[in-house]
Amino acid sequence: MQDELKTIQEQALQEIQAAASSPELAEIRLKYFGKKGVVTKYSRTLGTLSAEERPLVGKAINELRERLETELKIRQAEMERREAEAKFEREKIDVELPGRRPRRGHPHPLQIIIEEITMTFLGMGFSVAEGPEVEFDYYNFEALNIPPEHPAREMHDSLYITDNILLRTHTSPVQIRAMEKLYPEPVRIIVPGRVYRRDALDATHSPLFHQIEGLLVDKGITFGDLKGVLTVFVKKFFGEDRQVRLRPSFFPFTEPSAEVDVSCVCQGKGCRICKNTGWIEILGSGSVHPKVLAMAKYDPEVYSGFAFGMGVERIAMLRYGITDIRHFYENDFRFLSQFC
Ligand SMILES: [Zn+2]
Repeated sequence: MQDELKTIQEQALQEIQAAASSPELAEIRLKYFGKKGVVTKYSRTLGTLSAEERPLVGKAINELRERLETELKIRQAEMERREAEAKFEREKIDVELPGRRPRRGHPHPLQIIIEEITMTFLGMGFSVAEGPEVEFDYYNFEALNIPPEHPAREMHDSLYITDNILLRTHTSPVQIRAMEKLYPEPVRIIVPGRVYRRDALDATHSPLFHQIEGLLVDKGITFGDLKGVLTVFVKKFFGEDRQVRLRPSFFPFTEPSAEVDVSCVCQGKGCRICKNTGWIEILGSGSVHPKVLAMAKYDPEVYSGFAFGMGVERIAMLRYGITDIRHFYENDFRFLSQFC
């Protein structure tokens, strides 16, 4: 039996030497010392041996056990060291590798346009004013010379919250709020903001869009001042070679009123953008209606002024050649990343 144990020891030592990983060592341990392990089996046969044989074999088994346990421990320690080294190697940081740059954010194209337009007017002495998006009927319509029976109320087709509170349909209510606040000082404001209409979303309409409104009220302001300010804006924003054209129009809160066109990039030759007219409509404007001035306590006999308003989406579409307004609201990265 001692010979058998010798063979087992040699076999086991070989296996321990050949093991290549901790799990392999664990398997060897199980093979010899587990419940059904080779050495365990021998220990169980001790009871069947004679009284002389028993201590000898017992001693031999113990020696075998100790020898193998020692070997296993040494190998295990070696293995752990090697595995730790390998892990360290794997996780070593190469400080000379080029870094991975995090992707930088950038403003939304509408924000770019809003900022550019706003900056142009700030440069002419205007300052930014803002007002609530949830607005009283009074500021949105009535104070802007749009009384309840006025057809413009239907034209706007608004989103009402209560009978006299609605989502503002234009940035114009800020005109009244600013005049109320500044009276009797001169008013020179630019008002960027969101506005809402009861429109279904399609390529050219959105129930939410952005406007920029301008208002200047002071003594002795003429229609010529309006044209001058808008000409400076058009040349700064669209280019020095662009022309401005005013066409008579109608708005309840300005009198007289004018649509403002900018000459097309095709320089009058006619193209798809200008629908072969050579001109592109960009905003509505006019002299502030005497009734609107009076509503905000400015005496129309003493004060006069002009106002204008433009759709930011429309300007952005012209600037970037975008044909579908929905691109602005879909947050598609393929679209947005073009405006870095
Ligand atoms: Zn054109």
